[in-house]
Amino acid sequence: MALTGTKRFQNYIGGEWVDAIGGDTFESVSPANGDTIGIFPKSGPGDVDRAVEAARAAFEEWRLVPAPKRGEVLFRFGQLLIEHKDDLVDLMTREMGKVKAEAGGDVQEAIDMSYYMAGEGRRLFGQTTPSELRDKFNMSVRMPIGVVGAITPWNFPIAIPSWKMLPALVCGNTVVFKPATDTPLLGERFVELLDEAGLPKGVVNIVHGGGGAVGDRLVRHPDVRVITLTGSRETGVEVMRNAADALKHVHLELGGKNAIIVLDDADLELAADGILWSAFGTSGQRCTAASRVIVQEGAYEALQSRLVAAAEKMRLGYGWEDDTDVGPVINKAALEKIHSYTEIGKGEGARLLTGGEVATGNGLSDGYYYRPTIFGDVAPGMRIAQEEIFGPTTALIRVRDFDEAIRVSNGIKYGLSSSIFTRDVNKAFRAMRDLQAGITYINAGTIGAEVHLPFGGTKDTGNGHREAGQAALDVFTEWKSIYVDYSGRLQRAQIDTEESPAP
Ligand code: NAD
Repeated sequence: MALTGTKRFQNYIGGEWVDAIGGDTFESVSPANGDTIGIFPKSGPGDVDRAVEAARAAFEEWRLVPAPKRGEVLFRFGQLLIEHKDDLVDLMTREMGKVKAEAGGDVQEAIDMSYYMAGEGRRLFGQTTPSELRDKFNMSVRMPIGVVGAITPWNFPIAIPSWKMLPALVCGNTVVFKPATDTPLLGERFVELLDEAGLPKGVVNIVHGGGGAVGDRLVRHPDVRVITLTGSRETGVEVMRNAADALKHVHLELGGKNAIIVLDDADLELAADGILWSAFGTSGQRCTAASRVIVQEGAYEALQSRLVAAAEKMRLGYGWEDDTDVGPVINKAALEKIHSYTEIGKGEGARLLTGGEVATGNGLSDGYYYRPTIFGDVAPGMRIAQEEIFGPTTALIRVRDFDEAIRVSNGIKYGLSSSIFTRDVNKAFRAMRDLQAGITYINAGTIGAEVHLPFGGTKDTGNGHREAGQAALDVFTEWKSIYVDYSGRLQRAQIDTEESPAP
């Protein structure tokens, strides 16, 4: 049991709650008002080694548990998430800062993923195929891989762990989980509920601590076969490099610089709603956030005034209050980074239309709040139109026509989400074909994924894998091809071929 009474928490290794070997700790602090959420073990490589050993030992038994039984644990987990949804939502508004409705969406996504992946326990389909030879049977089956190291960011503190751990578990792998140091308590609650759902000891372990000490040891540990990481591009590159010597499976979901295109024929009211939701929801801290808006010149002025007026009406505040539109950003460093991009944008000659400052007053000074910020007259090559800011800042870019809009949308290194507002079905289909991104929305903003579809991006957003949907199973299994020869004699493939019968 975690020591909740004293707000001091532990690692969970091999079914035991334990302190870090070195005894060091760190605090989780609310970005909303500076409250201390809890004290957590600041673990090191030795703690990771213990957890990996527990996961390696547990794998030998867990891989043999029938997949439908593994799925039943996930069904129970989904049920527990429903029962604890209100508490988790309240905790998320405090530890991570997002507003209540969005925190509810975060937890709901994990509930959906639990049921979806629980169902996979009765599917996990392979293939059967005919053989070239007589009296021979061929099939392919999915095999679990072993110990999975799951390293997550703070922006979806319940949903993202579920995208990684639930498919890993139903496929028969065991997990060592390192949550972000900004949201350790939500990671802890996730593991407590998995334990309560009935996972055997050692199947899931949590080790708290930083990317350098805990994450890096997971990445380099010889017994961790799969690393699944969601984080920034820079972290992804480092992880891939450090995992290369051991030829690990590395699954990366990285940054974005997503654009919404608005054509002259669009429903501007709908487009404005979609842009505000995508740019300022979660204070712009979504990998799919719309940090660029590419507008055809006929719609530009009208859309710009709508957006500015609406952004200025948004209420900043605590996520747990019902009338809050925009919560805090995650920490001081994020606030400073976001503001530095305001300065960069101004320096580049973009026009600051609204926002561009830290919000204070009404109790906000104890947290990290930034006003929804819109730049106009942004050139596609400016840094504010190219680099991931990860805050409530968006850049309006004026274009002449559809072709230029597609070119500008594609003219970045990332390829996560994309969107177009138009009533022209031909242009919508061309956009679906030509936008270089893992996700394309028609007449909706760039955010909001459903768990039964693949999630991830092209170009520098990742390394070709996908989270969620059936695609997630490819990350956490390896294919085995099985040939059963029941002829009773040696049949050599490609050599002992039979003549085709005459037609
Ligand atoms: P981050 O890269 O700083 O950290 C992500 C995780 O990696 C953390 O747990 C961190 O401790 C760990 N880490 C850092 N260095 C490491 C190392 N050398 N080895 C192993 N682990 C290491 O990212 P963040 O600030 O937590 O999250 C924001 C980023 O995540 C943004 O770039 C955002 O776009 C991205 N993101 C992407 C998706 C997606 O699905 N594509 C979803 C959410 C967030």
